[in-house]
Amino acid sequence: MIIDFHAHAFPDAVAPRAMAGLIRATRGTLTSIGDGTFTNFLDQMEHDGVDRACVLQIATKPTQFDVLLRTARAIRSGEMGERARRMLVPFMSVHPEDPHLMEHLDEVAEAGIRGIKLHPYYQNFRLDDPKVWPMFRRIAELGLVVECHAGYDVGYPDRFDACGPKEIAALLRNVKGLAFVAAHLGGCAGYAPHATDELLDLGAYVDTSALFCNWYRDEEMRLVHSWPTERILFATDFPWTVYAEAIRWVKEFRDERDWEAVFSGNARRLLGI
Ligand SMILES: [Zn+2]
Repeated sequence: MIIDFHAHAFPDAVAPRAMAGLIRATRGTLTSIGDGTFTNFLDQMEHDGVDRACVLQIATKPTQFDVLLRTARAIRSGEMGERARRMLVPFMSVHPEDPHLMEHLDEVAEAGIRGIKLHPYYQNFRLDDPKVWPMFRRIAELGLVVECHAGYDVGYPDRFDACGPKEIAALLRNVKGLAFVAAHLGGCAGYAPHATDELLDLGAYVDTSALFCNWYRDEEMRLVHSWPTERILFATDFPWTVYAEAIRWVKEFRDERDWEAVFSGNARRLLGI
């Protein structure tokens, strides 16, 4: 079984505009697979033998909460189709400046949604800022998983602050019991070798969506090879990665006896599915 812990796809009506914005943000550095729609994404998953995927949305403004929650609910209820209900695990996103932040987190948990996606650059906050720690404490109390962008982002090529290993460590030292997944192998691109290892004792997970441009850098290879099996979640950041290659890359650096945990077991445990 294969679960992709980090993917992006959109309802048909919003996909063209959402994809155009994302493609602009990558400044020509990444090529997208498909057209960004759920339908196309589900076709890709079936073609490549991927059983389930977490679809991550980002609230770039507090006002987006309602529409994002509607989409997440529609996936879960089957309104977006039977395949979407069966194969997609929708994550929600909240904006740290949302005046109704705490009530909205409760609503997310009540809707049965398993996780929250955050992106400090797009949402203009820092993980080491004590102002946002009450949000993370509530997320931990509700038993939700955080999937957070970490480190370098092609849309913000000059930024290595806000969500690098140091900032993640500050958050996890101050918010106990948080299930925190640091995307892109903890953001290892752009930091000193072994910087991400600071997160090992703090209980963080990493996802393997390192993107093809970083696949054969020493630090990414070392990390995916040497981190404890139970802390690594297979992920692709689809539509920016071809499944077959992402799967082959992870298999290349992990022993076959780790595959079950990395490709699905850890995700199932974290998500309770
Ligand atoms: Zn992503």
